[in-house]
Amino acid sequence: MNKLFSSLLLMYTLSIVVCLSACGQGKNEPPPPPPPPAVVIFKTPDEWKKVLSADQYSVLREKETEKPFTGKLLYNKDKGVYKCAGCGNELFTDEMKFDSHCGWPSFDKEIAGGKIKKIEDNSLGMHRTEIVCAKCGGHLGHLFDDGPTATGMRYCVNSESLTFQKEMAVAEATKTKNNIDTITLGGGCYWCVEAVYEMLDGVKSVESGFSGGTVVNPTYREVCMGTTGHAEVVQIVYDNKKTSLDEILKVFFTVHDPTTLNRQGADEGEQYRSVILYRNNEQYKTAKSIVDELNKRKVYENPVVTQIVPFKVFYKAEDYHQDYYSQNQEKPYCKMVIQPKLEKFEKLFKDRLKKTGN
Ligand SMILES: [Zn+2]
Repeated sequence: MNKLFSSLLLMYTLSIVVCLSACGQGKNEPPPPPPPPAVVIFKTPDEWKKVLSADQYSVLREKETEKPFTGKLLYNKDKGVYKCAGCGNELFTDEMKFDSHCGWPSFDKEIAGGKIKKIEDNSLGMHRTEIVCAKCGGHLGHLFDDGPTATGMRYCVNSESLTFQKEMAVAEATKTKNNIDTITLGGGCYWCVEAVYEMLDGVKSVESGFSGGTVVNPTYREVCMGTTGHAEVVQIVYDNKKTSLDEILKVFFTVHDPTTLNRQGADEGEQYRSVILYRNNEQYKTAKSIVDELNKRKVYENPVVTQIVPFKVFYKAEDYHQDYYSQNQEKPYCKMVIQPKLEKFEKLFKDRLKKTGN
């Protein structure tokens, strides 16, 4: 009874508060901003100790501050993404970092999307704004309004609170060294495409990942939701003396259906689109001439809808997506979807298979 009474009282009080605040506001005033997202990852101290180093734990979970000028990321100038060391939440990019000479990594902006929570901090006799990861609540550092750049902000962050993922620069990925070249292709589920190219003679490595979208360093789950703009792709490094882009693209057009827009079989969504991401004019010309030829000769019943777009950046997928077929051959998807594609490839390109031991 008591419980019921107190919740009724609470509802009554709330309705008065809502009414009062609504009455006090002009009708045209914008609604208040939504509350910051609640922490979504919760772990006990013991659970955190299992996944964090002692230094990370004392900074992230006990709000300690690392000694100035000691952090591993202080002078890092590589291109890439800074993530929360507790949960992997992407917080900053290299473009937001600047040298503040204060002894800790400093940023003038955060990646949009409410990834960082600001909390009033009156400890140590100072009035400061503490910044924490909105996903796991991990302590990052403090936010000051004395930044030297246009934003005027200085996110002063402990290196221990961060991990850094280096972005593979376009130039690095493009360089042709000793006839080694790279191409990025999307042909539906990357598990299938990767498995095929692993067998082609002249292919040195194949990685599954994401490209063509706008979200920095996406996760598989985010890409599956279809909101990142990325396609599932494979990045193929190959030896031009043993194979060629021409051959790689012939394989590509054999093992996927380039005529279905944003779909491969049962896999549907923009992330399954057929796409060739070229790195230079030569790759563009080769891709374009093959697509034109396929359409001219009406090789398929319907026109080829494969996109041919410039390559910008490749984000490697999580480890368990790499070599998926060879690790999971017994799974139904591998047997039913990937294996028939491999058999088709083996039949048509039987002279071009990797010799064992290659
Ligand atoms: Zn976090």
